[in-house]
Amino acid sequence: MNTLSHTKILATVGPASSSPEMLEKLVDAGVNGFRLNFSHGGHDEYREIVKAIRNIEKRRKTPITILQDLQGPKIRVGTFEGKKKHVLKVGDIFTLDNDKTGGTAQRVCLPHPEILEVLNIGDPVYINDGVVKMRVKDKKDGAVICTVEASGTVSDRKGVNLPGVDLPFSAMTNKDRKDAKFGMELDVDWVALSFVQRPEDVLELREIIGNSARIMAKIEMPNATKRLEKIVEVVDGLMVARGDLGVEMPLEEVPPLQKRIIRKCREAGKIVVVATQMLESMTQANTPTRAEVSDVANATYEGADTLMLSAETASGDYPLEAVEVMARVISRIERSVAWKPLMDARHPNVVQNIGDAMAHGAYQISETLDISGIVTFTASGSTAMRMSRQRPLQPILTLTPEIKTARALSLAWGLHTNVSAEPETFDDLVPLATEALQAMELCGKGDNVLLTAGVPFGVSGSTNMVRVVTL
Ligand code: PGA
Ligand code: MN
Repeated sequence: MNTLSHTKILATVGPASSSPEMLEKLVDAGVNGFRLNFSHGGHDEYREIVKAIRNIEKRRKTPITILQDLQGPKIRVGTFEGKKKHVLKVGDIFTLDNDKTGGTAQRVCLPHPEILEVLNIGDPVYINDGVVKMRVKDKKDGAVICTVEASGTVSDRKGVNLPGVDLPFSAMTNKDRKDAKFGMELDVDWVALSFVQRPEDVLELREIIGNSARIMAKIEMPNATKRLEKIVEVVDGLMVARGDLGVEMPLEEVPPLQKRIIRKCREAGKIVVVATQMLESMTQANTPTRAEVSDVANATYEGADTLMLSAETASGDYPLEAVEVMARVISRIERSVAWKPLMDARHPNVVQNIGDAMAHGAYQISETLDISGIVTFTASGSTAMRMSRQRPLQPILTLTPEIKTARALSLAWGLHTNVSAEPETFDDLVPLATEALQAMELCGKGDNVLLTAGVPFGVSGSTNMVRVVTL
């Protein structure tokens, strides 16, 4: 019988993984979805990759999520003249200005006048992934004069972080807008928005893509964490983007925040992805560190929907091994004694509506009786997401007539999605469920399974029946 993991794997595609052969190997090793990182790569390349993924999907008869990750407004310094690299030392004065001429050891252009405008005396300014730390000492003639507090090197186009500063622009640049439209052409399932600060950022993307894809907000700025409740309301999922978070706030703040974001998403029934450096050392080694294995294990114990691989699969030397390790760790943790009690410890309260009460009831039956699997019929995905939020022990087979729903929900905790015919009547459900369970080798003859659906079918959010069937 099939033992499927509840926690899902999202792998970033890059030079190390973009061949159709490697993509297929990664799917066979346990990848549920691919991230296309639009900070790199061109449109023609992504067109080919999407084609390859859709071919694998057909061959493997398993829906695969494609997540388009928009670059967002990454702030960078300008370029330097003469000597291209300068070491800034503690106590040095370094100025950011609007002068387009090449930078020196004393100054460089920050080609975003609106940012120079909003920076105040005392604000932190980081360059080069947080290595060089400076603080605004003075402002003069539109320039920002800083004192260096942690030394390091500055060079052409290095990234700038302004932790905690409310930036006066949206999370979308013109490139992002073009890329988002291209994503619609590719029919991506999710669009991830980088450097979200406010719920309005998400609404702006929604305006462009409509309902063509689900939206994931990347939480990578302290500003967003202040508005987490409001942001959760308008998205379909969140990403704990630990890479930029770890630059924007002290590193020790990231693990508690990860827990808080996961909890919020589960309460709201939204998908949460834990990202960045999960198996970082595997970019160069075929085994991970003990600490990395612990990190993957912990995110699994926390009940994250999906764990993400970045450089490990995009540009590392061991993309396949990284996925294999991740899949093995997840599978082992989900069989550990501590796992289920940890899932239950954070059981969300029942929301006072029929759909949620049904899901909660189904969960209680799954805990009481000897149930081998749960089958949810869903059109929009809401019945299935409610069931996922309960975090039951059994696999949740999710049947939907909509391929888009099947693809997008393959990132959801515990949901094993598949396309099926639309049941017309209540009695249609049983044979459809039995057939799918057997095809997936999830259950055997004599097993009890739970069915849940909204009848009449196809009305979103109308879950109103739970039934136990013996196969
Ligand atoms: P990135 O996002 O890989 O696009 O930077 C993830 C992160 O910041 O952790
Ligand atoms: Mn990032």
